[in-house]
Amino acid sequence: MSDHLQRPGHDCLLCPRLADFRAVNRKAYPDWHNGPVPSFGDIDAAILIVGLAPGLRGANRTGRPFTGDYAGDLLYRTLLEFSLADGSYGGEADDRLVLKNVRITNAVRCVPPQNKVVAAETAACRRFLAAEVGAMKNLRLVLALGTVAHGAVLSTLAEKKSARKFSHAAIHNLDGGLVLADSYHCSRYNTNTGRLTTAMFDHVFEKIISIVSC
Ligand code: SF4
Repeated sequence: MSDHLQRPGHDCLLCPRLADFRAVNRKAYPDWHNGPVPSFGDIDAAILIVGLAPGLRGANRTGRPFTGDYAGDLLYRTLLEFSLADGSYGGEADDRLVLKNVRITNAVRCVPPQNKVVAAETAACRRFLAAEVGAMKNLRLVLALGTVAHGAVLSTLAEKKSARKFSHAAIHNLDGGLVLADSYHCSRYNTNTGRLTTAMFDHVFEKIISIVSC
C-alpha cells in the first residue's frame, strides 16, 4: 500500500460481538471476505460517502463497500448516473468499476448481526473513520447515509450533534470547514417502505454535485 493510513487488521478484535459473528461466518462461508471491509476509492477524493456497516451477503461477502446487495445497486447506479464513477457495476469487487472523486467507507467496518450495530462498536471503529478523514487532504464533503453514519461523522469531527440534526437532504456547514450532507440510507428496507425514493436520492446527489463543483 502506498499510504500510511491506519486500517484495522483482518482479525480486528476491538468489537468482541462482531469478532464472534465473523468467526461464525468464516466457518459457514469460508470463501467470503468475512473481515473489516476496506474503503473504496481514491484517498485524494473530495467526497467521502459513509454508510452504516457491511451487509452480510453484500460487502461482507465481496470485500468492497456496498457491493453485492440492493443498497449497492442503488448507490452505484446513482454514482454512475452523476458521473461520479466510470465503468459498470457488476456486484462483485472485480467488476473494474472506478470511482471519480469519491471514496466510500462505513461507520462500522465489520458486519453486525441483523444489520444492527451498538454504540460501543461505532465508538470503537471511529478511530478508522478519523484516520480516513484525516488522510483525505482534498476532502470537502461527507455524505452520511443514515443517522448512525451522521452521528459517527459528527463525533469524529468533534462537531456538536445538537446543532446538526439528521434530516434527509440536509446540508450542514461544519465549523471545521467541511460540509456534511445527509441522506436516508439506500437500503432495500428504506426503498421498499417508500422512505427513500430514487428521486429523493438523486436530489441529494444534485445538491452534492453543486457544492463540490463550486
Ligand atoms: S467494527 Fe471496526 S473496530 Fe470493530 S472489530 Fe471491526 S474493524 Fe475492529
